[in-house]
Amino acid sequence: MEKVNCDLCGADAPEILFTRKDRFTNQDFQFVTCTNCGLIYLQYRPSQEELDLHYPHDYEAYYLLEEGSEGVNQWHLRRMLNLQLAFVEQYSNNKGRLLDIGAATGNFMKNAHDHGWEVLGIEPIEKAANIAREYYHLEVITGTLETAALESSSFDVACMWDVLEHVPSPRQTLAGCFDLLKPNGLLVFSIPNLKSFDRYLFGENWIGWDAPRHFNMFTEDTLKQLLDTSGFYLAGKKCILGGKGTFKLSIEQVLENKRLRAWFNRAYPLLSALLWPYRQVSYLVDRGPIITYAARKKV
Ligand SMILES: [Zn+2]
Repeated sequence: MEKVNCDLCGADAPEILFTRKDRFTNQDFQFVTCTNCGLIYLQYRPSQEELDLHYPHDYEAYYLLEEGSEGVNQWHLRRMLNLQLAFVEQYSNNKGRLLDIGAATGNFMKNAHDHGWEVLGIEPIEKAANIAREYYHLEVITGTLETAALESSSFDVACMWDVLEHVPSPRQTLAGCFDLLKPNGLLVFSIPNLKSFDRYLFGENWIGWDAPRHFNMFTEDTLKQLLDTSGFYLAGKKCILGGKGTFKLSIEQVLENKRLRAWFNRAYPLLSALLWPYRQVSYLVDRGPIITYAARKKV
């Protein structure tokens, strides 16, 4: 374990928020709020060497785009990828060079490439990066933003889908994005939404907390502070992701009894269908479980 100060302001002035168990190892982790700037973070967290223990091999669900396949999962995946790309294109006038940081198996990159973008990915998990290369024939660097050492001012857009809450230092990550983006470049990223209905419904059991994989959690206020100190300004936001899967994971946090969980998993397709209006309303009023932001580099 390592102890860290607030990444946003550097202060060591934490106030305990709550403790929760890692859903994979049952180890306790404590979220704190920085009394100086308001950032919510894990004061004690696994070191980079220990982190592997907290990422089981089935952590990533590898759904891939299949040509000509019309299954329900494929339909959802395509719809989600198109919504992500539509959000990016809403803020970019031309289709230029796009970097996907934390590209996973390359689904988003593949869709962007098929719609005319020149794409490059960075992905720390070799197995995922290999799938992107071999299955989609995409260019992916294995590593992180820090190790990839890309040319300054060479990208029009940088994307981070569900990445910022996982990185050891969001300030360092945004500094890296600032460096590689062209003037007025666009940064698009999604994070757990602390104002989501799910967060209020599930409280400390909300899957958005997911300690110890999530190191830092942002309110809109702390996010604006982070963007401002990193040379960006907020250009827009929208809830386009999450819902079905995240709701299920949150309920599983509540149900500790194994038989109850098994029963719930069987009933979930029906429950999920009944929850469709809840999800749609939460997206419409920006209260979905995950929120996507667009930020622009200040010249
Ligand atoms: Zn702080």
